[in-house]
Amino acid sequence: MKNNRLYQPSYIKEILDKFNFSFSKALGQNFLIDGNIIRKIVEGSNITKDDVVLEIGPGFGTLTEELAMKAKKVISVEKDRRLIEVLDYTLKDYDNVEIINNDILKENIREIKDKFSPERKLKVVANLPYYITTPILEYLIETKECIESITVMVQEEVARRMVASVKDKDYGSLSIYMNYNSNAEIIAKAPKQIFMPSPKVDSAVVKLVLEDKDYGVNEELLFKLIRSGFTKRRKNILNSLTTGFLEINKDDLKEILDELDISTNNRAENLTLEDFVNITKKLNYD
Ligand code: SAM
Repeated sequence: MKNNRLYQPSYIKEILDKFNFSFSKALGQNFLIDGNIIRKIVEGSNITKDDVVLEIGPGFGTLTEELAMKAKKVISVEKDRRLIEVLDYTLKDYDNVEIINNDILKENIREIKDKFSPERKLKVVANLPYYITTPILEYLIETKECIESITVMVQEEVARRMVASVKDKDYGSLSIYMNYNSNAEIIAKAPKQIFMPSPKVDSAVVKLVLEDKDYGVNEELLFKLIRSGFTKRRKNILNSLTTGFLEINKDDLKEILDELDISTNNRAENLTLEDFVNITKKLNYD
C-alpha cells in the first residue's frame, strides 16, 4: 500500500500542476476522484492474483493502481500520449503494470491475451471514454473468446439500455446485442460529482459476463433484422422488418410470424431475443 491514493482530489490536483496537464474533452477525460466507487468496480470485477486485467484508458492511473494491487498483471491501453509520462510517475511503485500507448480500437486483443495471459481469459475493467462506448464494447465482444468479463463505467442511460429486458422502456437493439453475448447487470451507480471534471450526466458500472451460447443462427441476418426493427420502431414488425436493410417479402414474413404465433401488430420492442432468433432461422432455412 502506497502513501498517496491516486483518487484523492488533492493528489490529482498535485499531478495536474506537476505535469501542467489539461483535460481533453475530445478524449472523454473525466477522471475518478472517489475511492468508494473504485473499490466497487474492483470488487465487482472479482479479480484475483491469477488474473491478467486489460484496462482501457488509465488516465492518471487511479483505477489502475487499485487493479494492480489485486491482479497478477494489468495491461493498460491509453491513447493520450501526454499521459504516458504521468503514468510512469504515478505507477512507478508497481512492477506488474504494462502501459501501451495506443487507441484501443487499433490494439490486437487476441495478441495481448496470447502474450500476457496464454492460460487464462482476460478480465476487462475500465472507466470508459464515453464518446466511443459502443464501438469499444462491440470491439471487445468480437474477441469474446479471449475475455471472461467486462466491468465498465458508462453513462447511466447507456447502462440501462444495456441491461434492459423486453418490457422495460429502455429496451432496444443494444439490450438484445448484450443479451445475445453476455449476462449483463448494473453493479453500481455513480453520480456525476465523483468525476473530475464532472460530466453532464450520471454514470453506472455494468458487469458483462461473456457467454458463448450457440443459437445456431446466421448472426449477420439476425442483427440486420434487429436493426431494421428498431430503426423503424414505431411501425409494426410486418412493416419494419420488410423495409430498410432487408428485402423480405411481406407475405412470407406474415406466414413465418403466424407459424411462430407472433402477432403482426407487435413492434420490435415487444419481441425477445428468442423471437428474433426464431424468425431469422425460418427466414434462413425454411
Ligand atoms: N481511468 C481513468 C479514471 O477513471 O480516472 C480515466 C478514465 S477517462 C473517462 C477515459 C480515458 O480513456 C482517458 O484517459 C482517455 O485519454 C482515454 N481514451 C480515450 N479514447 C481512448 C481510446 N480510443 N483508446 C484508449 N484510451 C482512450
